[in-house]
Amino acid sequence: MQIGPRIPRIKAAGSDGWEIVYRARALVAAGEHVLNLTIGEPDRTTDPRVLTAMHEAAMGGLTGYTFGPGLPELRRAIAARVTERTGVATRPESVIVTPGGQAALFAAHMVLLSQGDTGLYITPHYPTYPTTILATGAEAVSVAASAEAGFQPKAEAILEAQARTGARSLLINTPNNPTGVVYTPETVAGIADACREANLWLISDEVYDTQIWEGAHHTPRALPGMEERTVVIGSMSKSHAMTGSRLGWIVAPDEVVEAATVLATNTTYGVVPYIQKGALAALELGPDFEEEIAAPFRRRRALVQAAVAGSDKVSTAPAAGAMYVMLDIRETGISGEAFARRLIEEERIAVMPGESFGAAAAGHLRVALTLPDADLSEAVTRIVAFAEGL
Ligand code: PLP
Repeated sequence: MQIGPRIPRIKAAGSDGWEIVYRARALVAAGEHVLNLTIGEPDRTTDPRVLTAMHEAAMGGLTGYTFGPGLPELRRAIAARVTERTGVATRPESVIVTPGGQAALFAAHMVLLSQGDTGLYITPHYPTYPTTILATGAEAVSVAASAEAGFQPKAEAILEAQARTGARSLLINTPNNPTGVVYTPETVAGIADACREANLWLISDEVYDTQIWEGAHHTPRALPGMEERTVVIGSMSKSHAMTGSRLGWIVAPDEVVEAATVLATNTTYGVVPYIQKGALAALELGPDFEEEIAAPFRRRRALVQAAVAGSDKVSTAPAAGAMYVMLDIRETGISGEAFARRLIEEERIAVMPGESFGAAAAGHLRVALTLPDADLSEAVTRIVAFAEGL
């Protein structure tokens, strides 16, 4: 029996950047010590207060189906947080709770695109971006943000790609995975102008919005005329160290939330109710808790910058946010892929080659700031020495 063509189409377009991740896992399984800087996951477990709230909710009987867009109290808390953080008055009806940010990205694109459409995304990109767009049946077209431009996307490039393809949507991400770049107010304004001019839906992935080391987070939804065409993706994974809980959301115009609710009825049936109660408890811990989760990444980003300072072979892209730093190794003359392959074999250090996030990140390495400080410093110091010895 043959399966249908949809998933093979997604798989064929998928990144092979996992090669280093699998190699690191195999080495560890064989008993070797590997400094692993590949995985974008907080290196701490979910806070006991959050787990207790989940436990109490479950023991209290909240174990049944939860139809619809989420528990009213959680939608209220998310709406209040968005209002407070962005200044855009946001109603609970504008929020749907999803099983993680990835499911929110999928739902947003399913609602906005279908076969025959085109969805744009900025590259370097989080690897599921093109495949999430392809999953809807639409075509996925990248718009490059170049290293020379500090990985800030340009409005002209978006408009050119839209004119060429007739695209209906654009997917952006700030603070950015993989580059660690935070879009400037000018970049965000340019994106908003392009979306209004070309009548594009904007899907704004803001799952790293609590991880800002320089400047501020600017959401395009706050700009004039953008609320009605912007779909914001949020998640508890990175901001509250809750990756395994699978709790994210969409903030969007009512018609998008209603359509995503129909989709949920036909896929997930909503999000586990006691997990939603845990998310509510986590949000109630407030901004101090979010800062506590972000603090190690802020510290480690400084350690990476110190370790590469003075090197003429390795530098960093402007690392203003998110739990990653992009190392620019173009001066070594070898590709990110070749560098990463040699690094794991010769140094037992695992990093993601820039190329696995698109050609716009060629000659770079993505370092996740998820190892203890001393291990991270050692790893980056050895990466610099390796680059200089090439
Ligand atoms: N968006 C970006 C840019 C990410 O880096 C990730 C995870 O690494 C996600 C979305 C999905 O995260 P989650 O589904 O855990 O919320």
